[in-house]
Amino acid sequence: MKKGDMTKKILGTVSNFFIFFLLAAFVTTCCIMLFISALQGSIGREFTQDEITVAAKITMLNVILLSIGMAIVDYVRRKFMVERPVKRITEATSKMIEGDFSVRVEPISKFANDDSFNEIIECINKMATELSGVETLRTDFIANVSHEMKTPLAVMQNYGTLLQAPDLPEEKRIEYAKSIADAARRLADMMTNILKLNRLENQQIYPQIEKYDLGEQLCESLLQYESTWERKNIEIETDIAERVLVSADAELLSLVWNNLFSNAFKFTEDGGKVTLTLTADEEYATVKIADTGCGMSAEVGAHIFEKFYQGDTSHATQGNGLGLALVKRVVDIMQGEIGVESAVGVGTTFTVKIRRADYGLEEDR
Ligand code: ADP
Repeated sequence: MKKGDMTKKILGTVSNFFIFFLLAAFVTTCCIMLFISALQGSIGREFTQDEITVAAKITMLNVILLSIGMAIVDYVRRKFMVERPVKRITEATSKMIEGDFSVRVEPISKFANDDSFNEIIECINKMATELSGVETLRTDFIANVSHEMKTPLAVMQNYGTLLQAPDLPEEKRIEYAKSIADAARRLADMMTNILKLNRLENQQIYPQIEKYDLGEQLCESLLQYESTWERKNIEIETDIAERVLVSADAELLSLVWNNLFSNAFKFTEDGGKVTLTLTADEEYATVKIADTGCGMSAEVGAHIFEKFYQGDTSHATQGNGLGLALVKRVVDIMQGEIGVESAVGVGTTFTVKIRRADYGLEEDR
């Protein structure tokens, strides 16, 4: 213990002693004076000066002993009931400040009659658990971003070197330049998605709620993939209920449909089929986007909404595993629901439920 802390403790104990002394002296003097006047009345004589002096000295001694006793009891109580838990808490928080979130504080004895410290300890332990979760997410995120950046950067570097070769045939030059442009586009797409996700997670995007026709929006989104379904000879089937109005942020929801359609076309082989269905009941509009693509196992399905997760690595270069994380976040912000049913080799169906216009959204969103 530091010298300054020791002096502080001694001064604290001494000042406690004086407080107890004054209290005990005041209480005892009042009691003794009452007692003497009552006694004088009942025995019918006045006490002499000497008798009073002796009684006062004995009382003074008792007061001093009592005060010392109380100061010692108070010191011991503080030591075990206050200093120990405070020391445990400060040690743990100091470790957390240094970045160690694995620390946990032991609760103090159950026999202590004041449970306030255990409440504080419980909160600190919860905080440490939360912080360690956030820290893991952060380090995973950095590792994932760095990993995802490395591949397109390596591609750019390699093709950049190849482009420097003299007498390069024209078609090779075009091929290499195209590969560099593709890698740069992937990097730019990933950065755009990271920024969008970041803004959505930090609630920097406030949904612009408007009432609009969901069917029209779905058709517009689907039509963007016309060239893809024609190239891959994919059959399209639609069953869209008319005039289904929703109260939502159209721009954010278009992110959802674009990602789901883009995955459906990406994971469906040539000659497959993509089906779009829009139905509605009183409360919800339900959108189903189904494909007859490669499907996914239950294990893959359990992770698809995680950032950077890619279950099917054969299409890894066509995405970065952020699409469905974005989709999930937007659906959550819209207070909707999203589910997936899939079977390997059979196909996948994503179902999204969005509140209809008349039901509105909660004010705080
Ligand atoms: P990306 O498409 O960039 O890989 P996503 O977040 O959009 O990332 O999807 C995550 C994973 O979910 C994909 O890698 C794939 O394994 C799986 N997935 C998503 N949509 C489908 C689908 N329609 N059919 C099969 N697998 C899918």
